[in-house]
Amino acid sequence: MLKISRQLLIATTLLLTLTAYAQTPARNEEITRKYFSTLGSGTQPNLAGLTLFFTLMPKGADLHHHYSGAIYTEQYLDWVGREHYCINKVSYRIETDPVVISAERAKQPQDRSCLSSDEVLSNNAVLRELLKHWSDKDYGNHFEIEMPPDRQFFDTFGYFEPVASDYSDDGLQRLKKRAMAENLMYIETMFKLGPMVQDTGFDTAVLRNGVDPDTLNAQMSALMTTLDQDQKFRHGIDVHLADILASSAGIDDDQFTMRFQAFVLRMLSPSQVFSSLLAAFKEASECNRVVGVNIVGPENMTVSMRDYSLHMQMFRFLKAKYPQVNLSLHAGELAMGMVPPEGLTFHIREAIDVAGARRIGHGMDIAYESDAIGLMKAMRERDIAVEVNLTSNEFILGIKNEAHPVTLFRRFGVPFVLATDDAGVSRNNLSSEYALFASRYKTSYAEVKKLSYDSLRYSFLPAPDKKRLTQMLDQRFAKFEAQIADLVKSETGRR
Ligand SMILES: [Zn+2]
Repeated sequence: MLKISRQLLIATTLLLTLTAYAQTPARNEEITRKYFSTLGSGTQPNLAGLTLFFTLMPKGADLHHHYSGAIYTEQYLDWVGREHYCINKVSYRIETDPVVISAERAKQPQDRSCLSSDEVLSNNAVLRELLKHWSDKDYGNHFEIEMPPDRQFFDTFGYFEPVASDYSDDGLQRLKKRAMAENLMYIETMFKLGPMVQDTGFDTAVLRNGVDPDTLNAQMSALMTTLDQDQKFRHGIDVHLADILASSAGIDDDQFTMRFQAFVLRMLSPSQVFSSLLAAFKEASECNRVVGVNIVGPENMTVSMRDYSLHMQMFRFLKAKYPQVNLSLHAGELAMGMVPPEGLTFHIREAIDVAGARRIGHGMDIAYESDAIGLMKAMRERDIAVEVNLTSNEFILGIKNEAHPVTLFRRFGVPFVLATDDAGVSRNNLSSEYALFASRYKTSYAEVKKLSYDSLRYSFLPAPDKKRLTQMLDQRFAKFEAQIADLVKSETGRR
């Protein structure tokens, strides 16, 4: 009797151990790893399977995210309806004041029959028309019937501007809802442009001066002193901060967090860039919901290229005044042919070494950078991550598959994260970016899981928040891997 009981006890213990093993997180992770490897193997990846997998998988954060570009057209149309606006069927622009629009129409530059070279250079649309005739530029993009893709992309922002700002509280709530639906916990979004001033004296002086650091620092110090005494400028900062706080009221909860990056537009005048940059640094120092500063806009435009090094000097100057402010800079969002080759050799390096960026947006021209290998080594050693936006890069720059520098980042150990850039314009989401990554490149479950954790690791959240969200990500992965283990079990049961 005693013997039987002992045997029964051993058998029961063994069964319990096996059952427990089958349900352990380590076992579930192993099953998930094997399941994932079946989706990407073979000559054709199982894109539907990958899409399902990544829709369910916790993805941590989206760190490269423009608010107005993340809202889909359908949402803007809803807001247009609520405001009783209409859309001009020729221009496709939102008409808010018929009188103003008709007056503006009378001033259309294309009505002029002859333009100076300065006028051509300052008008991107005309410049692009010229490039189409003077070179092979955009020929492969069916330019006879379509506008160039980068112009198409950046022009979109002008269309929804009339309603993008007015409904920002509604917009942020919808972005949160979408993010939570695809198992995200954190978004770091570039929200709205802050205040700025135009100072033609500064513009003339710095453009004459070039980037001689001593002279430039004196000029920037003088303008900063003026701006620090400018009540209207200060009021602009206060209004902008109040808008951020009001728009994001009620967004954060125990499952979701949203933070903001203040940003400047790189194609504006030097004084406008400097003043909006000063406002951005002040906002990031004064408000804990603003966790970083960025620079955005088409990098290949005439002014963006002319002033690139000047902008990096501005960042360096203000970073010295506000050393605690985090920088993530769009840099190297360029492809061969967009600008002369010399323009592809220094943007990422200067964003890191001169401006002090901790993250790089895009970094697409890295293979053309001077000492690209040394640069990638420095990025690896200094833990500077690249925000990779696969869909956006394919559309705007025409770079995809093995031509995408993510292949170099992986080979040289440069940290990177996957992001959406402008989900509303690209009509994608973060899950589809992961699916695209896994369908293009031979990857593993360990790598995609690391990408998810890295999105929190490289975020600009303070350490306690980062820790809290990382622990939450652990729980979500445990739940996800258990779900995949159940799925595998049920699939095996059906066979
Ligand atoms: Zn971007």
